[in-house]
Amino acid sequence: MHILVTNDDGVFAPGLLALVQELRQIGKVSIVAPDHNWSASGHVKTLSRPLRAKEVVLPDGSKALACDGAPSDCVALTTMGLLSEPVEIVVSGINPNANLGHDVTYSGTVTAAMEAAISNLPGIAVSLDAPEYHTGPLDYSTAAKVAAHVTQIVWEHKLPNNTLLNVNVPYCSMDEVKGYRITRQGLRVYRDVLIKREDPRGRPYYWIGGDAPTGVPEEGTDIGALSQCYVSITPLILDLTAHGFREEMESWKF
Ligand code: MN
Repeated sequence: MHILVTNDDGVFAPGLLALVQELRQIGKVSIVAPDHNWSASGHVKTLSRPLRAKEVVLPDGSKALACDGAPSDCVALTTMGLLSEPVEIVVSGINPNANLGHDVTYSGTVTAAMEAAISNLPGIAVSLDAPEYHTGPLDYSTAAKVAAHVTQIVWEHKLPNNTLLNVNVPYCSMDEVKGYRITRQGLRVYRDVLIKREDPRGRPYYWIGGDAPTGVPEEGTDIGALSQCYVSITPLILDLTAHGFREEMESWKF
């Protein structure tokens, strides 16, 4: 199994290295990741400028390609032939913070896995539910082991077309993880606040601030699973059609 590892936090992020080291136990790993942080950048295809990929060396000596495009660009470039050997599965992460509910549309971690699905490859996004006010280095060991386990199982079963997995791991030791829950997207509660300030020239600028989002820990959802110390695996599909609403709209008589 030839695994592409990417992320949205940048190629030197510790979550990527932890993921790479664990995935090497189960397959051949190639790394193509952004050269800087693209968190909350959504699904991007860079068409208006050239893209570059530069060889870099990670702290453990691993060779990686640092690309100046978005996470989804990294996946697209790779599936279109950037590497000499084609990759067979894409794992993105490990993001330091959970990607839950509507986060999936913002998340560079998840949209990298969406790009894999567009390229007809299995895509897995992995995020860690780190505590909001954590300081110091995060422990990615549990999330990395979970990621390798999920990747192995996905490799055995494959994924249906246009489908990807959004995996979120609680911040605890492997012993404390209660198990795996197959979930649906829960309801994120965003607490964004528009901050308006003035620059040194007296012109206004705006910055989205406010507290980190919370969520409704409803049973069966990603947020609910994490709140009970389960790994959440949400299968996502690229078809965003509101199928249940189509019939009602037919009666609107356009
Ligand atoms: Mn990120």
